[in-house]
Amino acid sequence: MTGLPQLDLSADVLTLTRALVDAPSVSGAEGPLADAVEAALRALGGLEVERVGDAVLARTNLGRPTRVVLAGHLDTVPIADNVPAELREADGVQRLYGCGTSDMKSGDAVMLRLAGRFGVPGGEPAHDLTFVFYENEEVEAVKNGLGRVARERRGWLYGDLAILLEPTDGEIEGGCQGTLRARLETKGRRAHSARSWLGVNAVHGLAGALATLAAYRPREVEIDGLTFREGLNAVGITGGVAGNVIPDEASLTVNFRYAPDRDEDAAEAHVRSVFAEVLAAGATLTVTDNAGGAMPGLAEPAAAAFVAAVGRPARAKLGWTDVARFAAFGIPAVNYGPGDPQLAHTREEHVRVDRLQPAEDALIAYLSGSPA
Ligand SMILES: [Zn+2]
Repeated sequence: MTGLPQLDLSADVLTLTRALVDAPSVSGAEGPLADAVEAALRALGGLEVERVGDAVLARTNLGRPTRVVLAGHLDTVPIADNVPAELREADGVQRLYGCGTSDMKSGDAVMLRLAGRFGVPGGEPAHDLTFVFYENEEVEAVKNGLGRVARERRGWLYGDLAILLEPTDGEIEGGCQGTLRARLETKGRRAHSARSWLGVNAVHGLAGALATLAAYRPREVEIDGLTFREGLNAVGITGGVAGNVIPDEASLTVNFRYAPDRDEDAAEAHVRSVFAEVLAAGATLTVTDNAGGAMPGLAEPAAAAFVAAVGRPARAKLGWTDVARFAAFGIPAVNYGPGDPQLAHTREEHVRVDRLQPAEDALIAYLSGSPA
């Protein structure tokens, strides 16, 4: 028998991060790690625990006036010869290398430490706490474990603040931007290129759209003191039939990253207005993917108290993250984790050891209600 991973929640956060990394959990294969997390949380004795697929949900029910939700995914991208974890030191800095060290088993380890501290009888957190460990974050959105919990166990996600422990390098990143992908297509008329005047060139038909994009001035928006910076860009272009044919079809894929003060419909309307001229000339625009962002909600008292506990100014989250799933329920949600987002998914993925304890300490201070 291969041993199931055993998780000792009384071990320090580095040891725990290491144990999590050494239990491989590529998306779709989180089962054994989820089992270990579930067993460790049940053993604490102060938590209501529920399993949904390979998501493990746990919460205190102490009747506190406020509830804080802590969430982290258990899965990683495919391993790149970087498991088991390896501790290395360079320039006086210790780093733990391995798949998931940054994204986001160090964050999961912090969550487990907090569960071990507050999820026991007499744990006395200042807020009721909900822990959500979930599967399939690194793959298609339809498989996302947090999405499933939102659909099937919505009550478990209720709270006054959600903290997602994705890598942020120890900074609070508020909200997240939305992302829209669309295909802009032009039609023409095919002809032999020796008699090009008989055809209509669909590739040339995209020239106006490209000029529009090159001249586009993205908005910068300030929300709750955070600056969100939008972007509208071509991310792909196709067209052409053969070296002697005037092409009758061409398409441009655009990606609009938008601030959370626009909802999905407003984002689509904006993209359509940007391309109004090309569309009036006969091009068509099809939205292929549109996920709204999340307002930072940092003005909410629970979020403001967390910013104070961390003691550093928050910044805007520019990528899309699962905080948007909380924001969709009107719950303020922030990203805050010890990992380095630049290292996520790389072969050299690692986490600085000196980032781990401060993340745990800041959360302990906040969750125990001690002044910052
Ligand atoms: Zn992640």
